[in-house]
Amino acid sequence: MAFKNESASKHGHSNITSNPDVKKFLERCPDVEVPTKKDLEEHIKKFYKVDDFHAELPKLLLAIDCSFYESFVDEEYPSRQVGYIKISSVLLNMEKYLDIGNTQSKYINPREIARLQKEIDTISLALPGAYVRLPECDTVTETFRKTLLDYLKGETTRLNGKTLFDTLVVLIEYLGRIKTDQEGVKHIIFSKCAVNNCQEQAKAKGFKIYLDIDSGIGICPICNCNNYASDVLRIFEEFSETDSNVQADSRIMSFLEHLLAVHYIYYLWKNDFNLLSKMCVFLDGPLAIFGPSAVFRKAIMLLINDVREYAKKLGFEEPLIMGLSKTGRVYEHFLAADRISKDFIQKGTFFMISDEYRYRFIDSAQKDHKKNHGEGTYYGQDIFIKTKKGGKFVVSLAYPFKDKGEGFQTRKLEVDKYTKLAHAITVIQELEADLYDNSVVPLVLAHKHTSISLKPGGKVLDILTTEAFKKTK
Ligand SMILES: [Zn+2]
Repeated sequence: MAFKNESASKHGHSNITSNPDVKKFLERCPDVEVPTKKDLEEHIKKFYKVDDFHAELPKLLLAIDCSFYESFVDEEYPSRQVGYIKISSVLLNMEKYLDIGNTQSKYINPREIARLQKEIDTISLALPGAYVRLPECDTVTETFRKTLLDYLKGETTRLNGKTLFDTLVVLIEYLGRIKTDQEGVKHIIFSKCAVNNCQEQAKAKGFKIYLDIDSGIGICPICNCNNYASDVLRIFEEFSETDSNVQADSRIMSFLEHLLAVHYIYYLWKNDFNLLSKMCVFLDGPLAIFGPSAVFRKAIMLLINDVREYAKKLGFEEPLIMGLSKTGRVYEHFLAADRISKDFIQKGTFFMISDEYRYRFIDSAQKDHKKNHGEGTYYGQDIFIKTKKGGKFVVSLAYPFKDKGEGFQTRKLEVDKYTKLAHAITVIQELEADLYDNSVVPLVLAHKHTSISLKPGGKVLDILTTEAFKKTK
């Protein structure tokens, strides 16, 4: 456990690092290897020119971004905490958006920005943290678990009658965890109790809890405790009843960002595929789910594949689904390497980040190089792009496959498998904002909005159905 304020003391820090044992340890930590030009020739099989990958911009861009912070419930008792999460989504009509850029060149009209901001949707959640228990719950952890389910079932995320909970159920079904009983009623099946170690205590094999698909609640046959459908995310395993919950809250924030993207994709798939085929879904960060909910990357890959197959069958284009990493190891690596050698990567080029390259220079802590990088977490391929202006972007593009499996380390690098690659590169090149280093304006807008607005959701849907967007069909 970190002691608050201790790390802030520089004096304390220098005391620690001058300790001979600590010094010895630090000396043994290997340096991160920075590639030379020769290494690049060896390890990057191919640099591609961005000019060879030009496509039309998607008509619509849906950017999703999240933020969170933890605070106390009241000043008298700062140990009682609540986590606040905001998810913003902004839907941009790209033609209109580029018009603003063209007429104002480097200067963006604040009135136009204000208008664009009106088109941003925000979902806000307050999640109970340490020492916060609702009267209807037995424990602080149950309060956290139940509140999460209540939010997922809440009105603010309803799209044509379907909530985020309904979309979560769709993903649970992709994981094969929904079964139909003899009466034809569907249940979510848990093989582990969220409250006690009941699966171990159960004498009979095949311990199961059947959750009602409408309420999202099931009762454990051993301990009689409520199990909530949101427990499928297992994030409560990282929850603390007496300490900070930055970890658990950030997991929820990140999961909800992906779930909301799937929510929109699924809704449009079932209601207006033509619109979906013209869309770019743009996420903040890699296309990956980390932590206890990581298994959902599998479900998302399957769902995206079904969308792709459906598009093929109907003769539509598939939607572009991409993420942008503005921080993290991969991004740090390219900044450092670029600082050392200016011609490290030529302007106007990109390359697919192979596992071989990653294990050597980015993630050298990984021992087993035969194993897929991000086997259990990633559903998209990381690509490094240096734009013609010299901007450095780490983009993640949805894998064009149903699942991973044999030869995936090679297959995932084949650029011709990614039918939306040229579109992704065009989006980055066109939206590269002069004003912000390595950021894309819709995300900046979404970010700004996250911190200033409390408006309830539903607006993106309104915009999708307005005349202005119908014209783009
Ligand atoms: Zn139980």
